[in-house]
Amino acid sequence: MKHALIRTIIKFFRITRVYRILCPVYRGEGVILGMHRVVPASEKPRIAANSRIEITPEFLEELILFFRGIGYEIISLGQVYERLNLPKGAEKPFVCFTFDDGYVDVCRTALPIFEKYDAPFVVYVVTTFADRSAVLWWYMLEDLVLNHDVLDIRIRGRDYSFKCPGHDQKEDVFNRIRSILMDLPQTELSAEVKALCAPFGILPEHYVSQLMSWKQVSELARHPLATVGAHTVHHYNLSMLSTEDEVEREILESKRLIENKTGRKVFHFAYPFGSREEVGRREIEVASRCGFHTAVTVREGAIFPGHKRYTEALPRIEITGRYQDITLVDMRRCGTVSLMRNGFNRLVTL
Ligand SMILES: [Zn+2]
Repeated sequence: MKHALIRTIIKFFRITRVYRILCPVYRGEGVILGMHRVVPASEKPRIAANSRIEITPEFLEELILFFRGIGYEIISLGQVYERLNLPKGAEKPFVCFTFDDGYVDVCRTALPIFEKYDAPFVVYVVTTFADRSAVLWWYMLEDLVLNHDVLDIRIRGRDYSFKCPGHDQKEDVFNRIRSILMDLPQTELSAEVKALCAPFGILPEHYVSQLMSWKQVSELARHPLATVGAHTVHHYNLSMLSTEDEVEREILESKRLIENKTGRKVFHFAYPFGSREEVGRREIEVASRCGFHTAVTVREGAIFPGHKRYTEALPRIEITGRYQDITLVDMRRCGTVSLMRNGFNRLVTL
């Protein structure tokens, strides 16, 4: 119901563009965009939860051209931090492009686009991704569901039976298995998925070529347009870890590893998942003592001068493959979605 109402409001705004009236009040100093992957559109059937983290190269170019076209300056996260701390006044609004996780297409496909437009960007790297020791369980689960119409599986000693001959049923079964997995203790998830998928010949090593290697991360860290930030060691849901020490280890160890591998200091951090459910006061307090200049969530919002006091919880605008639509991006950079989600509160933090 709530979703339908929001959709109706968005449709109304799209047609009337009345949201632009709000822009001077809600657009703030600029926006940080959050993305994951840049890959060409494919005809292959996909599970929506996975394809939504991919945008096309064409849409990335469209985004760059759109923001330049409306007079935004594309800046690095270091410059966002500088602007918050040393505002010069009367600067153009900014946009900052960030990519989470460390997928290889950011090097292969996005980097040449940023080079073409001489525009900076940020990549937040999960260190077990760069080690290639990560279990990309969401892609393994996607193949498991897409390749089978009947699934008899065992998760943590419990048997489950699913029937999913049609695509809608596959989407549903994927989401059901995912939510069972997401409720497991974070440290057991990878081993459970490996055991679950192995009998079907679905192995973690088939998927790691989608990730950047340390060599690629180091090359990016030296690239004048790129900034490498940290995104934890394992990409756990930090709020599900039992102790503060575990949270600190996940964050600090990833910072230390990236610094050792690249020889560059790491000043920026992104919380895994990053929504209010996964990032609470404890996670923000821990990150704020780990020596970063900025840390970002996926709470929807623009950046305001008041964020100077909240650089450890900066909001972003998440750009997903589901809505590759410039009008919607325009609405969101104007704060339209943020004010609906955050009750007209401009300064989105925790
Ligand atoms: Zn992530």
